[in-house]
Amino acid sequence: MPRDRFGREINYLRISVIDHCNLRCVYCMPLRGLTFIPSPELLTAAEIETVARAAVACGFRKFRLTGGEPTLRPDIVEITRRIAGVPGVSDLAMTTNAILLPRLARPLAEAGLRRLNVHVDTLHPERLKKLMRFGTIEEIEAGIAAAESAGLRPIKINCVVTRDYNDADVVDLARRARERGWHVRFIELMPLGGGETAHVALSQYVPSQETRARIEAALGRLVEAPSANPSDEARNFRFAEGEGVVGFISPVSEPYCGTCNRMRLTADGRFHLCLLHDDELDVRAALRGGGGVPEVAAILERAIGQKPTGHRLDEGISTEERSMFQLGG
Ligand code: SAM
Repeated sequence: MPRDRFGREINYLRISVIDHCNLRCVYCMPLRGLTFIPSPELLTAAEIETVARAAVACGFRKFRLTGGEPTLRPDIVEITRRIAGVPGVSDLAMTTNAILLPRLARPLAEAGLRRLNVHVDTLHPERLKKLMRFGTIEEIEAGIAAAESAGLRPIKINCVVTRDYNDADVVDLARRARERGWHVRFIELMPLGGGETAHVALSQYVPSQETRARIEAALGRLVEAPSANPSDEARNFRFAEGEGVVGFISPVSEPYCGTCNRMRLTADGRFHLCLLHDDELDVRAALRGGGGVPEVAAILERAIGQKPTGHRLDEGISTEERSMFQLGG
């Protein structure tokens, strides 16, 4: 197992396949002034497969496709098939806004995708428009239904709690989790990127404790359900009665860097060592200079060796100069 210099086992690779998105969530992407990575600079499906093979050679077992919005990549099914086909890949998941899943859920499942995290900040149509800007709750629900009928279970729902936008709606989402047996995770807003998105994150932050208190006041006591996975970033709870799981991901109020097991690959081929640091190691140059699995594995070993101890969001450090498109949670 690959361990970093702090003794953490690093075995989970999050692969961003594209930086475009069909939504513009207020805390993630501004409406104007964006420049995207030109297509020739994106890693190809074959290059991503080489990175996955190198990661497996280094002991990685878990992989997640993300973005931007990963379903916007025209060859997303091929990318999925290539990674799922690498011997040693035990888990392949995707984080998506689900809008394109009515068309893609089945081909993705057939290509070897196992699980999905779907991003839904609110079930309320008007507030969804204000927060996620494009897309409708009907489209997202159709995507979730398509994923469920394609067998992509369990589906986890990601909800980023943003004051004055959706903080009052967490109860409806938790209630829906109880009715449908969903696993909804409420995520604390992180100040990623710069400009208006970081400003929103800093001013509209809601601590998980407040979100949990709001849910318990409306729906009754939550009972902690410890995760079997020590690297699970969420603290999970069940309802005293009924189905469903409610999780709280608290990178600001309760950072979990000590159990971080991740490495990130950017869409243009750099290992990004920590979500909240700028450090990156280029892998595309090695791939395009004729390098294969051994060369990429050597870069990945170096990246693991240089992984920082963690971020300091709890001390109010923001990521002002970071690119905002590396998130992929
Ligand atoms: N487009 C996909 C989506 O919407 O889920 C994948 C990429 S998106 C950047 C990955 C996840 O990051 C989202 O599901 C959302 O929960 C989370 N996210 C985005 N911006 C965030 C922020 N500023 N703080 C906390 N979580 C954030």
